[in-house]
Amino acid sequence: MKTKKSSDFHEWYPEVILSAKLADYAPVHGCIIFRERGYAIWERIQQSLDAKIRAMGVKNAYFPLFIPESLLKKEAEHFEGFVPEVAWVEKKEGDEERVALRPTSETVIYYMYSKWIRSHRDLPLKLNQWCNIVRWEIKQTRPFLRTREFLWQEGHTAHATQEEAEAQVKDALNAYVDLIEGELAIPVVAGRKTKVETFAGAVYTTAVESLMPDGRALQMGTSHYFGDHFPKMFGIKYMSEEDGVERFCHTTSWGVSTRLIGAVVMVHGDDKGLVLPPRIAPEQAVIIPIFKEETKAPVFKKCEEIRKKLEAAGVRAVADYDDAHTPGWKFAECELRGIPLRIEVGPKDIEKAQVTAVRRDTGGKSAIMESELAAKVQELLDAIQSNLFERAKKFLEENTVAVKTNAELKKALDGRKMAKAAHCGGEACEQKIKDETGGGTIRCIPFRQEKVSDKCAGCGSPAKYTVLIAKAY
Ligand SMILES: [Zn+2]
Repeated sequence: MKTKKSSDFHEWYPEVILSAKLADYAPVHGCIIFRERGYAIWERIQQSLDAKIRAMGVKNAYFPLFIPESLLKKEAEHFEGFVPEVAWVEKKEGDEERVALRPTSETVIYYMYSKWIRSHRDLPLKLNQWCNIVRWEIKQTRPFLRTREFLWQEGHTAHATQEEAEAQVKDALNAYVDLIEGELAIPVVAGRKTKVETFAGAVYTTAVESLMPDGRALQMGTSHYFGDHFPKMFGIKYMSEEDGVERFCHTTSWGVSTRLIGAVVMVHGDDKGLVLPPRIAPEQAVIIPIFKEETKAPVFKKCEEIRKKLEAAGVRAVADYDDAHTPGWKFAECELRGIPLRIEVGPKDIEKAQVTAVRRDTGGKSAIMESELAAKVQELLDAIQSNLFERAKKFLEENTVAVKTNAELKKALDGRKMAKAAHCGGEACEQKIKDETGGGTIRCIPFRQEKVSDKCAGCGSPAKYTVLIAKAY
């Protein structure tokens, strides 16, 4: 690594992504290629989240990439929310109307829901799709964080009652908390967005937010309650069981994207490169033979034995038999790639019937008896997973500061902290905070409320609740 995370975070971020071979820049501006290691992380995220999605009774489906202009424009506020970012397909002769590349799929899905839902027996209707999204960003793009095309999942559900829909909104957000904290080892704060920050067309938006090492917040996932707003627009009605009256459904949508990979890079990486939580790492352990020409054969043989044992125990293990590079070069390469555990095998290790394990997160070295290999390696991987989470949690706690006044708020944000502050709930005050702090926004109103003050940190009027304020990605 040319750049150190500790000295220039913004140079370091793309450099680590390119050097660890997670992604590369595409020939189209603002787009990236997910290389196999980056895509493997996404597949791990998918597997884990897909199981949670299915457990909520949601099934996967797939809708087209194209959305007719008339459908996209059907709900004005929703459309307005995306106008600058919509990419259009040039209209060809014979086309009835222009089509857009989906910036999100509410409109096309609701159009279909209005055809599919007739009676209470059709409800709830709960679908999810894993797909790509196009938002023609004009702002500066960054790999994984802001690109013109990205991958995500979007869940869309329709329910008979408000209670059911709101429960779904909550369940989806909880699934995200489990995924992000449990697999990605990144602590989050869950809460509701203010009206200003609410998704276009939603009654309310809930979100999980985390804090990145540069003091900026990153929205990690969102879950929206739409009420019967879209159903009224699209005519999604059902015949009620009790009284035979036609009623509008209540709908929700929720999603996380490949932006999560960017968060993993930023939160856990260090001066030596990427650091991956074992649960989502494409390779959990790399075995490196330490040999001279005369010991090469027995050392390679032992390495292969070790690799097979680990593989049989369910550990994603690879061995590096390349003999063009020194062990030292390979160590640096594994560190750059963020492989959680390095296992060294040399003639002395073989004599003692052991291997030497080195942790990526702490650099800690330990000898493991071959007889205890699988259990000890699993133990170490678990220890790395929880150490990464604890380390990130400590960072989040230490860099979230309670502020009472405007001056304190500004100082916190200038000092790259996230502020916990009382707020009046006023939209003008929220805008004033944004202007005066150079872009600080209310990230969320945390579900777990902690009282900081009776008075709003922005304007001094009586406070309604406590919010988190930060500059955000
Ligand atoms: Zn205020």
